Amino acid sequence: TKREGFSSIPNVNWEDVGGLDSLREAFDRYIIQCIKHPEDYEELGVDMEFGFLLYGPPGCGKTLIAKAVAHEAGANFIHIKGPEILRKYVGESEQEVRTIFSRARTCSPCIIFFDEVDALTPKRGREGAWVVERALNQLLIELDGADQRHGVYVIGATNTPDAIDPAVLRPGRFGKLFYVPLPSAEERRSILKALARKKPVASDVDFDALAQREACRNLSGADLAALMNEAAMNVKEEKRLHLDQGTPYTEPLIIKTTHIEKAFDKI
Ligand code: ATP
Repeated sequence: TKREGFSSIPNVNWEDVGGLDSLREAFDRYIIQCIKHPEDYEELGVDMEFGFLLYGPPGCGKTLIAKAVAHEAGANFIHIKGPEILRKYVGESEQEVRTIFSRARTCSPCIIFFDEVDALTPKRGREGAWVVERALNQLLIELDGADQRHGVYVIGATNTPDAIDPAVLRPGRFGKLFYVPLPSAEERRSILKALARKKPVASDVDFDALAQREACRNLSGADLAALMNEAAMNVKEEKRLHLDQGTPYTEPLIIKTTHIEKAFDKI
């Protein structure tokens, strides 16, 4: 397990991400290629983009894709949660923001993933509002220091974009916004397949049919991950029941369609 706020290259790759094709393309263009071939961008005089904001419902792959981008670019990854910064002692929140960016510069190329950025939007009149305001100001200072941001990219994430201070969304700060929606049926199929790479799944499981099901309609990627996990537990449960009854369980531990069917009832 990685300590919050410290850098490492994530072990999540493109294959682990289902769907999100256009976002993948955008990140390849705006981050991965820039990190891998900065000279081309320089030669072409491209103004680089360093700040991105992903917004949308929870569990649809914002964190996952940010990690995969870092992996594919061979970049370090620092995971920060907005509320954690504010949990510091008074006056330390700004220092914390400064430290994060300076750490990112020393291990560049680096992607700072800033989860729940909306937490840094001052809620005027509330207790501790000025702590938030000073942390936010420091964040803006860091984002504005573009000439010092060589190789440091920031990907913010939020479930509530409306709650974000508009000052944060200007070009040069979190200049590019991407919506990460609930997956379509086709994307659900792709997510299920990505998830199945990590588990023993019978070859005749029809992911297409599963993804089309009515019960799947409003499920997020995180819900689908929970579904597959529950299915795996059902295999274990089946084995345990056999052994409890004194009958040997000779089958290999493999997730079949029936285990997934059963899992639908639980999630
Ligand atoms: P939150 O807004 O709550 O932070 P998030 O959008 O960052 O959510 P993730 O943390 O990326 O969501 O997703 C949670 C888990 O759900 C992932 O670790 C993965 O197992 C699964 N998941 C979500 N989206 C996808 C996807 N597009 N492809 C594959 N797995 C996914």
